[in-house]
Amino acid sequence: MYDFTIIGAGIVGSLIARELSKYDLKVCVLEKENDVANVQTRANSAIVHSGHDPKHGTLKARLSVEGNKLYEDLEKELHISLLRTGAFVCAKDKDEVNDMKKLYENALLNQVKDMEFLSIEEARVLEPNLNPSIKKVLSLPTTKVCFPWEVAFFALENAIKNGVELHRNALVTEITHTNHMFTIKTKDNQTYQTKHVINAAGVYTDEIATLINPNIPYQIKPRKGEYYVLDKSVKGYMEHVIYPMPSKKGKGVLITPQVHGNILLGPTSEWVSDKDDISTSLKGLHYIKEHIKDMAINVPYHLIIRQFAGVRSTSTYEDFYIQEDDAVKGFYHVAGVDSPGITAAPAIAKYLVDEVIKLSLPVKHTFNPILQKKIVYKDLSKQEKDELHQDKPLYGRIICKCEDITEQEIIDAIHGPLGSDTIKGVKKRARAGSGLCQGGYCESLVLRIIARETHKPLHEVNYDQKETQILDKESKVGS
Ligand SMILES: Cc1cc2nc3c(=O)[nH]c(=O)nc-3n(C[C@H](O)[C@H](O)[C@H](O)COP(=O)(O)OP(=O)(O)OC[C@H]3O[C@@H](n4cnc5c(N)ncnc54)[C@H](O)[C@@H]3O)c2cc1C
Repeated sequence: MYDFTIIGAGIVGSLIARELSKYDLKVCVLEKENDVANVQTRANSAIVHSGHDPKHGTLKARLSVEGNKLYEDLEKELHISLLRTGAFVCAKDKDEVNDMKKLYENALLNQVKDMEFLSIEEARVLEPNLNPSIKKVLSLPTTKVCFPWEVAFFALENAIKNGVELHRNALVTEITHTNHMFTIKTKDNQTYQTKHVINAAGVYTDEIATLINPNIPYQIKPRKGEYYVLDKSVKGYMEHVIYPMPSKKGKGVLITPQVHGNILLGPTSEWVSDKDDISTSLKGLHYIKEHIKDMAINVPYHLIIRQFAGVRSTSTYEDFYIQEDDAVKGFYHVAGVDSPGITAAPAIAKYLVDEVIKLSLPVKHTFNPILQKKIVYKDLSKQEKDELHQDKPLYGRIICKCEDITEQEIIDAIHGPLGSDTIKGVKKRARAGSGLCQGGYCESLVLRIIARETHKPLHEVNYDQKETQILDKESKVGS
């Protein structure tokens, strides 16, 4: 019997798992995918917003500002990547300049620190590619950029080291509640018994909640956002996150430097009926170009290397809905966590545990908040590299030439405590295939390494999900 079962291993479920792992509790996470953070947490702008635009007084406003600060702790404890970019909000005409004053006042109430107004001339000293026709700029120095997949992954890895269990490929299909105990059934015919359930299922939170209570006060209205990724040779084109003025559609189309040197253009904003619709379109690219031209000049569209889309879990409740169910005690909703959910996630985890569940247990003496720093070969000094080669010679063999990723880093990604045996899983962990050629050179080598390390025939290695093999039969050369 578990004390707590968390449904969903996105950034929110993973950080809640880590928060609960501080205590002497039996905790498990059920994730429908074959990997963590494979849905919203995988496809977004990665911005740790300052908390300037959520309406003052909402949970979104409070938890954004608190979450932004907590990222400093995550950097120290989990060694996540954090880029301190700061951000510029751009007003393109007189009306937007007026609205910008209201935005500033809202941000002041939210306790966003160190903001200042800049003229376009002042802003262009720092960002020469801003459009000179911009009328005013609001600078938000506390804005940062993270790598959300890594945040979730490191948080869950740390939670697992502190005793949490993770079950992948565990699609929750049924929940019943009798005698103060929940019984959860999954599609793979497993049954889990638990005293409490935490519903952190992203776009599916409403469907999970109605398994137990048909009268919930929110419904998820999925909203898709498409992106274009510029190759890392673009580094320096923009150093800050560039926002237009926010509108009813959200924060708008942005220019966002990423922790690995790429720049993201997007997202679009489109209501969709299918929660899993992550298709991209030419229409999306035109929409992005149309909106970016007001903010930037010399946009290097020729450096686009790929596109992707994510679906926001926007809810009819219009704020985060983080509460115990009114009718079913012990069932907790963490719903409507659309943007700024990456920003707020560490604060959501603390808020849920401290103020909603009101857990008042002592922190267990074995809890270790520190995750050992991962080896990133290309960041090491020559001496460090030489020492590594002596111990593990496969650190000396580069597999992904675009990103300088070695065979040993790929092996570590396969066999880590949260390892993966898919090409996409290795790409996310070790970044092999993330560069200019997008795996054109190294994918077949990664395929062979996975087959060798997992003792599988080549044609059984999946690209991503189940049944996504690259080869349909054994090749002539074998493994
Ligand atoms: C286009 C876009 C841009 C965004 N940009 C930003 C940004 O720059 N900054 C920011 O702060 N936020 C941003 N966000 C919001 C942010 O991405 C989300 O708020 C955050 O990722 C939500 O995390 P989550 O863990 O709640 O959801 P998810 O990452 O979706 O995780 C939910 C998990 O639940 C699992 N699950 C679902 N159903 C079941 C089931 N039946 N059984 C078991 N498991 C299940 C899913 O597989 C998934 O892994 C953006 C979102 C989008 C889509």
